[in-house]
Amino acid sequence: MIKVCKFGGTSMADANSIRQVKNIIEADASRRFVVVSAPGKRFKDDIKITDMLYRCYDEVVEFGTCKKSFSIIRERFVQIVKDLELDLDIDSVLDKTEKDIDESKCPDFAASRGEYLSAIVTAAFLGFEFVDAADIIRFDRHGQLNKDYTADKVYNALNDVEKAVIPGFFGRNFQGEIKTFSRGGSDITGSIIANGIKADLYENWTDVSGFLVCDPRIVPEAKAINQITYKEVRELSYMGASVLHAEAIAPVMRRRIPINIKNTFKPEDKGTMIVPNDMYQASANDSVITGIAGKKNFTVLLIEKSMMNAEVGFIRKVLSVVEHFNICVEHLPSGIDTLSVILSSDQLKDGVLSDLVNEIRENVNPDYIHVMENVSLIATVGHGMARRHGTAATLFTALANENINIKMIDQGSSELNIIIGVANSDYEKCIRAIYKAFN
Ligand code: ASP
Repeated sequence: MIKVCKFGGTSMADANSIRQVKNIIEADASRRFVVVSAPGKRFKDDIKITDMLYRCYDEVVEFGTCKKSFSIIRERFVQIVKDLELDLDIDSVLDKTEKDIDESKCPDFAASRGEYLSAIVTAAFLGFEFVDAADIIRFDRHGQLNKDYTADKVYNALNDVEKAVIPGFFGRNFQGEIKTFSRGGSDITGSIIANGIKADLYENWTDVSGFLVCDPRIVPEAKAINQITYKEVRELSYMGASVLHAEAIAPVMRRRIPINIKNTFKPEDKGTMIVPNDMYQASANDSVITGIAGKKNFTVLLIEKSMMNAEVGFIRKVLSVVEHFNICVEHLPSGIDTLSVILSSDQLKDGVLSDLVNEIRENVNPDYIHVMENVSLIATVGHGMARRHGTAATLFTALANENINIKMIDQGSSELNIIIGVANSDYEKCIRAIYKAFN
């Protein structure tokens, strides 16, 4: 039995939490491979080490050295090593790291050093080997993970190692330079390591006891989710559920390795088990709805043209214009003569929106384009929807009873997810209404 354990920033924040990590690892001999984040916040207004490292990079750009910002990072690691009573020459490691950041002049390199230092300290404390992610995780020339190459590298590097600590969040690009994943990316590293070493379980240790049905800041009584499928998590994470990085599912999918979200500070809690569809064990108290998640600030372009359905290439032409602006499309619900293009509003700032609308007008000559801004998208996710009737009716009745105006509806053909668009001002009210309707 092999378990890969990833510990997030709060678990690595100080000596006390790292001691707790050690207790967890030592409680189970199959916890052989440990992936760590950089130290995160110890209290509400604390600064994450990764954020400090981005500041280091800015300081290098401005003043040629990161001395000032790095001193805060130095202090934190020196304190951790001292509190853990570790026999580790952390000053030399920190001196070299500071020099490397000054010389590299690369934001990804600077940002990656939090995980790097965190892994060196954790490896020393656990008595495990340190294996650098830079030697095993590769990106291709398009910036995408080089999956097969990486899986082989991971296997070859770890197969003969009994126990190891690997820094999360980064690898190397095709030119050999350090490249990071997007923020929160150590979750992806854990998943890559679990796949490469052919683990039986990927434990993702964080500071909450798994996924809740919805955001507890909106619904304080939101229930915990004990079990959920890969696909459902992917939908919820994509729509803003922040427990697990949205890209952390893909690497373990092929080998069907379950992911267990666990709480470092309440290790006895079962947490959430994320499994492939056919491993899901249905129970009598399962709700039709597994989870609800959403995001604010989208813009909907509602494009209407009579006989649109008969015009070959219409949708392609619209999408080519959007692509030309290098903008990602979030959703694309369509009718016979209408097409809604849903875009995240932060891509449309500084006049981009009006330029885009004008160019679509010129290219496809629609009857009209209506722009709706300040739209929130809310996804109601549940694999049980496909087999039961009345889910949509329950959802829409609940919203009607609360006088919430639905601006857009999109149900994927997988019948796993109903996405609706409402005004930003209705966002919280809408999530509360859906939660109430199904629980
Ligand atoms: N330290 C990185 C971040 O703050 C990556 C991670 O923690 O997963 O985003």
